[in-house]
Amino acid sequence: MKALVIEDTVTSATLVCHQLRKMGLEPTHARDGEKGIDAFKANRPDLVLLDIIMPGMNGFEVARRIRQLERDGEWTPIIFLTARTSDEDLQRGIEVGGDDYLVKPVSEAVLGAKVRAMQRIAQMRYSLLVLTRKLDDANNELRRLSSVDGLTGIANRRELDETLLREWRRGVRSARPLSVLLADVDYFKQFNDGYGHQVGDECLKAVARSMKGELKRPSDLLARFGGEEFLVVLPETDIEGAAAVAESLRAAVEAMAITHRHAPVPGVVTISVGVASLVPDREHCETTLIEAADQALYAAKRDGRNRVSVRLPGLGSAFAQP
Ligand code: GH3
Ligand code: MG
Ligand code: MG
Ligand code: MG
Repeated sequence: MKALVIEDTVTSATLVCHQLRKMGLEPTHARDGEKGIDAFKANRPDLVLLDIIMPGMNGFEVARRIRQLERDGEWTPIIFLTARTSDEDLQRGIEVGGDDYLVKPVSEAVLGAKVRAMQRIAQMRYSLLVLTRKLDDANNELRRLSSVDGLTGIANRRELDETLLREWRRGVRSARPLSVLLADVDYFKQFNDGYGHQVGDECLKAVARSMKGELKRPSDLLARFGGEEFLVVLPETDIEGAAAVAESLRAAVEAMAITHRHAPVPGVVTISVGVASLVPDREHCETTLIEAADQALYAAKRDGRNRVSVRLPGLGSAFAQP
């Protein structure tokens, strides 16, 4: 435990330092207020013993400044050393941030008792700080877990719903296009039945990872929509941009070349992607976009799978891309 003794009278300082050393503390001595504040900044002591009457800055002012130097949640016990014992001095000392006082000449027994009391409070305060930090960590982890899909580590449905609604509202305000992609693994039931559920899970993780690698903008969100379906939210992206991203996702999954010999035509794991885009307005809601992407996905499946299909809601039927 480090102690800082700020005291202009050398004999008094020497005595206090000697007593502190006997108690197992490491004292530093500063001869005036300015030097005391410098020493406080440099050493960050666990305890400050502070004379009141000093040339230049007095002890009250030093205490006030020390309190200002402490960061959030920090607290260093300050014990005033005083020859004066008036009630007003005591009151003022506590007001400016002192915790206790000692009358000079300092008795070793009283100093020892007060140091121990301060140590006890400091220890409790430290335990509280550690607990608070643990609680903060646990809360952050809880928040993270509640927004993440357990299998794939990407955003879950909850996070997706929140993001989509937020982006929809933002789109209404900005009148900029919002696009979504709905991706579904082709013949995944056969994959699962053929290789087993565990291999199926590994496949979903790999598919999620490869798609995630294709998304470049920080505002793009890839989420697990459910089962083997994934939804991508692309803010401020028009239909051409969204179709290009969809094609890159499709190509990335195919390029992993995960063998799928249980598909009707044996080959590799692929995805079909439905694309929908519109400029959000007050007449519609974000589900319009998902429904359109779902229809586009249906068209992609119908037209042979491993392909991208685009749909502009309100502009008629889906059309498939080669
Ligand atoms: P399509 O090409 O038309 O999409 O056919 P499909 O077989 O992929 O479609 P379907 O929706 O019939 O099958 C989805 C299958 O995905 C059902 C289930 O076996 C599997 N599945 C869904 N969620 C999970 C999961 O979390 N883990 C694993 N291993 N399989 C899942
Ligand atoms: Mg003095
Ligand atoms: Mg499906
Ligand atoms: Mg499927």
